Amino acid sequence: MTTQRIRDFLATRRPDGPCLVVDLDVVRDNFHAFRHAMPDSAIYYAVKANPAPEVLRLLASLGSNFDCAGVAEIEMALDAGATAERISYGNTIKKERDIARAHALGINLFAVDSHEEVEKISRAAPGARVFCRVLTDGEGAEWPLSRKFGCVPQMAVDVLVYAHQLGLESYGVSFHVGSQMTKVDAWDAALADAKRVFVSLAKQGIHLQMVNMGGGFPTKYLRDVPSAEAYGKAIFASLRAHFGNQIPHTIIEPGRGMVGNAGVIKAEVVLISKKSDNDAARWVFLDIGKFGGLAETMDEAIRYPIRTVRDGDEMEPCVIAGPTCDSADVLYEKNLYPLPVSLTIGDEVLIEGTGAYTTTYSAVAFNGFDPLKAYII
Ligand SMILES: *Cc1c(COP(=O)(O)O)cnc(C)c1O
Repeated sequence: MTTQRIRDFLATRRPDGPCLVVDLDVVRDNFHAFRHAMPDSAIYYAVKANPAPEVLRLLASLGSNFDCAGVAEIEMALDAGATAERISYGNTIKKERDIARAHALGINLFAVDSHEEVEKISRAAPGARVFCRVLTDGEGAEWPLSRKFGCVPQMAVDVLVYAHQLGLESYGVSFHVGSQMTKVDAWDAALADAKRVFVSLAKQGIHLQMVNMGGGFPTKYLRDVPSAEAYGKAIFASLRAHFGNQIPHTIIEPGRGMVGNAGVIKAEVVLISKKSDNDAARWVFLDIGKFGGLAETMDEAIRYPIRTVRDGDEMEPCVIAGPTCDSADVLYEKNLYPLPVSLTIGDEVLIEGTGAYTTTYSAVAFNGFDPLKAYII
């Protein structure tokens, strides 16, 4: 949403070129909403969603923990004021020397999903805590994370036994239901799998302590999404159903849900044209596209709300494209996007819900375009 603070910032500063403006008040509200909805779960903010130092500093001061995908993100979280015990290294694919660097920085919580990764951690971070990621089907997620991360639950049992044998602390199970998950009950099947892993390991004398329930909490784009409260209720009901009165320590790792709605991209219409005189749809070219930060429009997966100064006028379906010389740089074409008939070259547009997964996805100097600028207010 475009908050009054963002409106005021754009009106007074009038930044040139496309830029992201993030309102920290919204991030603060989101953090409190998660804490209130899931009071018994530790919050590990997924740094990759938006690693702006101001965002990390705010979350560190509010008591957040941090899920990092690499050493650079770990250093950013440390610089923002988090201590090493508040940081997890959640990528299941790590170089051994990066594990060693993280270990030297004091990180003691690592994700694995294979025997091979367990071996690296046992050498580079002896004695560390590990959790094993299990696969989920991603059903219901608008940005599924598919099969790249995780293993089947039966293999997770073997991986955690192996970790134990190599002197690591087999600490728990993790999963990610898929990003922009709009179904509140999507955590249920994964929690059932997690419970099965707990039971199998307990039979071998290994007592897991933690379930990392990942991210997936949505941002409102064009359609309404359930509240953090609704997710909290559904997840707690599943924890009760599967773990009874022995609910383990739990972690959530919101990325998109923490920062998505806090950001708005200001962009500009560069060209409006047609491909033939009788072309049904106008082509609207913006000064930002897939390579300038809107990568999640890939396959038209994420459909951002776009506001213009002419929103009261008659609307017509348009193709929306980015400014680069790459024909893949089209945002919406299969599903045309309604924009005002009166929209004109030079008009400013506001692309809402862009606080997550934008600045970090923007290319450096493709066609000479600057990376997406960000103002954190
Ligand atoms: C990206 C990621 C997240 C954040 O996911 P969202 O859907 O943005 O909440 C959480 N955990 C891990 C391991 C991730 O890779």
